[in-house]
Amino acid sequence: MKRWTLDLDHESPTDSPRAAEVVKALRDGMLVGVPTETVYGLAADATQPDACARIFSAKRRPRFNPLISHVASFDAATEYGYFNDDALKLAEAFWPGPLTLVLPKKPGSPICDLATAGLDSVALRVPAGLVMRFLSEQIGGPLAAPSANVSGKISATTADDVVADLGDKIAYVVDAGPCPIGIESTIVACLGDPPQILRSGGVSREAIEAVLGRSLQDPEPEAGAAPQAPGMLLSHYAPSASVRLDAADVKPGEALLAFGPKPPRSHGNAVATLNLSPTGDLTEAAKNLFSGLRQLDRTGAHTICVQTVPETGLGEAINDRLRRAAAPRGTAMQRS
Ligand code: AMP
Ligand code: MG
Repeated sequence: MKRWTLDLDHESPTDSPRAAEVVKALRDGMLVGVPTETVYGLAADATQPDACARIFSAKRRPRFNPLISHVASFDAATEYGYFNDDALKLAEAFWPGPLTLVLPKKPGSPICDLATAGLDSVALRVPAGLVMRFLSEQIGGPLAAPSANVSGKISATTADDVVADLGDKIAYVVDAGPCPIGIESTIVACLGDPPQILRSGGVSREAIEAVLGRSLQDPEPEAGAAPQAPGMLLSHYAPSASVRLDAADVKPGEALLAFGPKPPRSHGNAVATLNLSPTGDLTEAAKNLFSGLRQLDRTGAHTICVQTVPETGLGEAINDRLRRAAAPRGTAMQRS
């Protein structure tokens, strides 16, 4: 595996001699760890079934879980999916950015069936992250990219996280530093009326509803049906340690994932402490969530206890990830 380190404040991916090598690796069907504003993605050419098969096997991801296709622009996205009025409004308001739209797939779309799990819908995103858009533009097509971590485990927000989980399975990792948002994209299905929120994420429900002028629908759990999003699997984002939520105190031997200025009772018991945001800022907390869980997990503590995070704005996505991190393991197939 090779690492391409990029300082996006001072250099453009276009100017780097590494760019052509990474583009060739993608064209050859290889996997590349790519930074985005949300988390690091495990990217492959979405039109090549063999390349997409490598994603599923590297992550040990169940094949019923379709992949998000990342494209360079709205115009590129219109080649693959049909946009209704809601989808047009959302793309206009939030692209490029941390919003994925699930749309009816256009017939003849080159995105392979493995990427869409054989569905007649397709998940599309124009990320704000420059590197993913650049690479998609260079290969001249969509890049399938789930989070660059082993399925069910904590998402990767740095190149080192990617290397730790998948270093032996990828041709390159592009290291552009930690991801600025730190939590996955919000997924909205615009397949009927009203649109459904399939997964909370980097764009808040409130912001989406303000653009649509009405409420999003939550998907109905259907008994026995396959989940539509990995975020709908009950146990996901799981550290090795157990996770205890809404901790008002710290028990001996626990690590503390704190939030806000007021520490919980007996916080002196904590073997390690990480505060998601000492000022109680939810954007900062989202950015620190996965790296904080990874860091506390590395201490070897048997339990990570977590202070309450409010449910508003990005708090909905943060709490969603925390609840799944705390879910009993071995419940990976259940719906929430
Ligand atoms: P991620 O694991 O972050 O790549 O998220 C992928 C998720 O996007 C899937 O689990 C689905 O919820 C959603 N998704 C992707 N493709 C489709 C599709 N064709 N139809 C419905 N949902 C999709
Ligand atoms: Mg993931």
